[in-house]
Amino acid sequence: MAIHLQLENGNPIDVADDLRVGDLVQQLGVDDPKIIGAKINKRVFDLQTKIGESGTLAFVRKGPGEEALHLLRHTAAHVMAQAVMRLFKDVEFAIGPTIEDGFYYDFDLEHVLAPEDFPAIEDEMRKIIAENYPVVRREVSEQEAQEILGTQRATFKRELLRGLEGQQLSFYTQNDFTDLCRGPHLPSTGYIGAFKLLSVAGAYWRGKETNPMLQRIYGTAFFTEKELKAYLRQLEEAKKRDHKKLGAELDLFHFDPVGPGFPFWHANGSVVYGAVQNYMNEKLQEYDYDTIRTPLILNEQLWRDSGHWEHYRENMYFTEIDEKAYAVKPMNCPGGTRVYKHGFYSYRDLPVRQAEFGVVHRHEKSGVLSGLFRVRSFTQDDAHIYCTPDQAVDEVISCLNLVQDVYKQFGFDEYHFELSTRPDKSIGTDEQWEFAESVLHKALERIKIDYQLNPGDGAFYGPKIDVHIKDAIKRTWQCGTIQVDFSMPQRFGLEYVDADGERKQPVMIHRAIFGSLERFIGILIEHTAGKFPAWLAPVQAMVIPVSDEKFGEYAQEVRQYLHRLGLRVQTDSRNESLNKRIRDNQKKQVPYMLVVGEKEAGEGTVSVRRRDGVQLPEPLRIEEFADLLIAEVVERRLDLYIGAQQTSTN
Ligand SMILES: [Zn+2]
Ligand SMILES: [Zn+2]
Repeated sequence: MAIHLQLENGNPIDVADDLRVGDLVQQLGVDDPKIIGAKINKRVFDLQTKIGESGTLAFVRKGPGEEALHLLRHTAAHVMAQAVMRLFKDVEFAIGPTIEDGFYYDFDLEHVLAPEDFPAIEDEMRKIIAENYPVVRREVSEQEAQEILGTQRATFKRELLRGLEGQQLSFYTQNDFTDLCRGPHLPSTGYIGAFKLLSVAGAYWRGKETNPMLQRIYGTAFFTEKELKAYLRQLEEAKKRDHKKLGAELDLFHFDPVGPGFPFWHANGSVVYGAVQNYMNEKLQEYDYDTIRTPLILNEQLWRDSGHWEHYRENMYFTEIDEKAYAVKPMNCPGGTRVYKHGFYSYRDLPVRQAEFGVVHRHEKSGVLSGLFRVRSFTQDDAHIYCTPDQAVDEVISCLNLVQDVYKQFGFDEYHFELSTRPDKSIGTDEQWEFAESVLHKALERIKIDYQLNPGDGAFYGPKIDVHIKDAIKRTWQCGTIQVDFSMPQRFGLEYVDADGERKQPVMIHRAIFGSLERFIGILIEHTAGKFPAWLAPVQAMVIPVSDEKFGEYAQEVRQYLHRLGLRVQTDSRNESLNKRIRDNQKKQVPYMLVVGEKEAGEGTVSVRRRDGVQLPEPLRIEEFADLLIAEVVERRLDLYIGAQQTSTN
């Protein structure tokens, strides 16, 4: 049987269905030793695997790309398993997949693995890599698989085998190590340029608490030493910036056993949260949005009508009111459409732009909760735009402009756009998809935004543009999303009256800029390393009297004066040395410290020190300082403005 492939240069080719990727490379006469596999549709294949399916094919080359790293890290996991096998007796293997940024392998063995074992394991891995063993794929029948496993202790592998009934089984072998594995892998172990073992942890077999506890080693690998070093540096930097650590140090938020996955925002964190929200409210005014609020709990029928019951039930919380079934909203759209539906719109009233800071609850497994990045309750800066088909491109452009305004305001100068199109499983007609995709294409092209195309990655109800921001240590985060939806207006019978007097269905655009406010603030904490600009800082200035006894009263006067002007100012009159108090507030990332002593009290001035060590040579009159700080806050400057011209540091 022939398979139809579309190559990366756009050329179509028909090949036999048992052709392997490596054979295709030869058949095409592509002389590129960097080719280590191919991405066919969405899956990565190695050179030894049969292509077996029609679709698009792009070769995977050695390098820093995601697909190449997947091949590399999967083989690194096998190399690690081989090393553990050689070093410890009676090891049983579970699974060893790649993960974001690395790989792990789960083992069952008597010896308790610890980081102290890493040097020996790494040495053994280096030997295996230096030997450059070929990694050989062998496809087998179920009986052959049982025979291969029969020689080793393999309860986990046998269980895996039972779950693979009817599928093509394969083993990969490198020298004395053989693993039941689907692949893909590098051609040989020598391709692994650089690796490092990172940590060890306990992990239940298949993540289930009633299953045996295994030992998991995490590691990472790259093609070059340089890339590994850069990654380890980034990891080190990320540890310092960890928002959970800074969240505690700066007293921003905490998590509590009484509500796992539900953040508790402290006074300091609430200030940051409020400042972010206030800024967005101003942008909503500028971009001509209305703001709505809809209930947290809505009856179950609505969720059946919206399709969430069918597609999203496991992630929802349910409750009962007056013996009727209700659900806590995991998304704002269904409730939001009730506000639109309650009104009556002619084509002249469109577009209707309804924004909502909507609190949503989603059930996440406790194991995946991760600070503010993965929570069970969060606020989305959601909006739904209802417009005529003719207005859709302009509306998407307006969303794209807003996205860029907002990210720049928070100091995210690098971001990129990805356009995801119709997936295999989707609802709606060809015309609807064509229209929706063309709206997004046109909008991006009209304002000359470069974007990456992700064919088949759209939502089942419509295509979308996702925006990924890059933080100060070069990590990327998907935050914003813009989606064109024709399904929900249909499901909920949304209408407007057109110029010809007919009732028509509006186009619905879903969009969020921050995505989740909680997660965005988490990213912001790590991006700034807790050094919030003054407009976001929980405390903008700290008044520190040289002696509380003599100048405490003046310090209070200064605080009150600034406080009345709407600035966030406190005093630090603790019975500690001046230097210690300055240092402590510097650590708390307070932008400005105002030291007051005899001279200042006499003249009505303050001596200004910045958290970065810059000290103003002359005291400022208190009114002067207030004017400068207000300007800095109102302009939402990202740098410290007062004393920017001064050079003296301590
Ligand atoms: Zn494997
Ligand atoms: Zn929505």
